[in-house]
Amino acid sequence: MLKKRKFIVVTGGVLSGLGKGIAAASIGHVLSSQYRVVPIKLDGYLNVDPGTMNPYEHGEVFVLDDGGEVDMDFGHYERFLNVSCKFEHNLTMGKVFEEIRSKERRGDYLGKTVQFVPHVVDVIKGRIFSVAEKEQAEIMLIEVGGTVGDMESDLYIEAMRQLENDVGEENILYVHLTYVPIPAGVAEQKSKPTQQSVYELRKRGIQPDVIIGRCSEPLTPEIKSKIASFCGVDKKAIFTGLDVDNVYKIPFLLEEEGIVEILKEKLGLEFRKIDDLWKELLHNLENPIQEITVALCGKYTSLTDSYASIKEALMHCSAHTKARVNMKFIETTAIEEGRLSIGEALAGVDGVIVPGGFGSRGVEGKLEVVRYCRENKIPILGICFGLQLMVVEFARNVCLLEKANTTEVDPETTHPVVDLMSEQKGIEAKGATMRLGAYISYLREGSLVRKLYNSEIVSERHRHRYEVNRQYHQFLQENGLSISGLYLEKNLAEFIELRDHPYFIATQAHPELKSRLSNPAPLFLGLVKAAMEKK
Ligand code: GLN
Repeated sequence: MLKKRKFIVVTGGVLSGLGKGIAAASIGHVLSSQYRVVPIKLDGYLNVDPGTMNPYEHGEVFVLDDGGEVDMDFGHYERFLNVSCKFEHNLTMGKVFEEIRSKERRGDYLGKTVQFVPHVVDVIKGRIFSVAEKEQAEIMLIEVGGTVGDMESDLYIEAMRQLENDVGEENILYVHLTYVPIPAGVAEQKSKPTQQSVYELRKRGIQPDVIIGRCSEPLTPEIKSKIASFCGVDKKAIFTGLDVDNVYKIPFLLEEEGIVEILKEKLGLEFRKIDDLWKELLHNLENPIQEITVALCGKYTSLTDSYASIKEALMHCSAHTKARVNMKFIETTAIEEGRLSIGEALAGVDGVIVPGGFGSRGVEGKLEVVRYCRENKIPILGICFGLQLMVVEFARNVCLLEKANTTEVDPETTHPVVDLMSEQKGIEAKGATMRLGAYISYLREGSLVRKLYNSEIVSERHRHRYEVNRQYHQFLQENGLSISGLYLEKNLAEFIELRDHPYFIATQAHPELKSRLSNPAPLFLGLVKAAMEKK
């Protein structure tokens, strides 16, 4: 155990989307085999959480065990640090102002004018210290969302500046991620954006200790010298944030460039090199023995960030099976509007995923995909909405319940085989009101799912309002659909499968959220193996 808790603050400059979350998680990974590293992310938006945001705008909503809805950076944190995060590890301005307002109404500030500094900044620091204490963190890894210079991150930056005074300069490390372009024609790495972004940071009172320059090529010694001299940073502490085909390589690249020495030197840490558990798995990824195609049919397929964890889970499976998994995105609206035939859509496809989703757009197209896979024995995995639609398809085409549906799509259906959960009825508010977080399911003896998990009990994370209508459980089972996993307390169908099919399985949960490179989600691994066999 460290004598003194350390703080690593990661900020970003120039533009968004440079991979600040990955950079922070990579530094965390370097430290995580020896220290208790606890991540916290500070977001500038006024939503309490991203649960109410459109995945088009914000990418996938990541769900934690405790039911917290957070952004996809937490996926990286959990996978890179091998931890389970909590909702309070994501601070948003929505949460900060909620606290300020309730304190003010309660009279906590009686007599005082409530101000951004000190009151708001104190709330920010207070939340960070409280997480650090509760989790007994040795190292707090703090990612400041947004770009330095954004109005909405200024209060966080001020809090981070003050932190140095609170914890002592030997216990804090400021890391700044910037962008080093190589403009066409000039064909040379350019330092000006980095200089300007560090200038913005210094104007706010923070001198970075480490700079990571995102670039398509390794930073040259010349550009490092230039950045060092203009930004007042040790040349050894300037790193490349290299464009890579796989982000799991980044911790190793940073290690090769000397991050371990810098962390030791600046924070007084004592540690060996990082463990290379991942190296063999990364090697497998680069030496595939087979190639398969898995189709993802959804409606946000143009924005693959909306399915970030599914892509991750498939990659984890690749590393274990040595099958290169090509993903094919199918917009199911094109199928239902007749612009794409089902045969064309699934040509050359070895396995299919019907992912989570909301609303009716593209649903009839997804149902066609399910039918085709069921009838043609193509391996298929349904996730959440995917499970619900697989039940609808089975009800319509096997049980012959005409126009069976989920009431989310058709509230008037005569066969509501999927319906709003009873505890959801009457809920009007949209924020954090779904069935969220980890629930335990019991897996039936002899089922495929029990074999895949190799366990009788599993815990997976959820995010939904609808479920298989309990009144139809028996009828569906009599017709051959097996409800193989249940949340016993409420008799909810958590897993379903078909027996006379190589791989027709679905879950009401989101197992992709807990998949790890060293431990892929069993249902995904099963799909990839079945697809390999089919091929
Ligand atoms: N829309 C469905 C529900 O609310 C499925 C949700 C999901 O796929 N995450 O139950």
